Amino acid sequence: MSPDMNCIFCKIVQGQIPAKKVFEDDDFIAFHDINPRAPIHLLLIPKPHIESLQHVDTSHQELLGKMLVLAPQLAAENGAQEGFKTLINTGPAGGQEVYHLHLHILGGRSAA
Ligand code: AMP
Ligand code: ZN
Repeated sequence: MSPDMNCIFCKIVQGQIPAKKVFEDDDFIAFHDINPRAPIHLLLIPKPHIESLQHVDTSHQELLGKMLVLAPQLAAENGAQEGFKTLINTGPAGGQEVYHLHLHILGGRSAA
């Protein structure tokens, strides 16, 4: 999907606002959450603007599979070798604040 220029994560993808990036390839960017709720708190986002998990379909299967395969790699590279939590908030009742699909990766002692 084309970038939504009102979307803060699309702006990070486009390099229009800064982020503490830890990973980037053709399909994804990962960066530190600006308001970390664990010693390690990363956000992994697909570059295309997908609003939420309620907006995915079968055309996104490969992308979503890649997202999950990346999660343990990024966790390990960023100090969460002993395990981590993953979280996707979806929709208003799911506590989603930023409407660009993202996977939280939470690690470190207080992530449990
Ligand atoms: P949610 O949509 O509730 O799953 O969470 C959105 C997350 O994005 C929150 O944990 C915010 O702290 C984080 N966040 C919002 N703006 C930024 C930003 N500019 N850079 C990094 N993280 C952000
Ligand atoms: Zn977006």
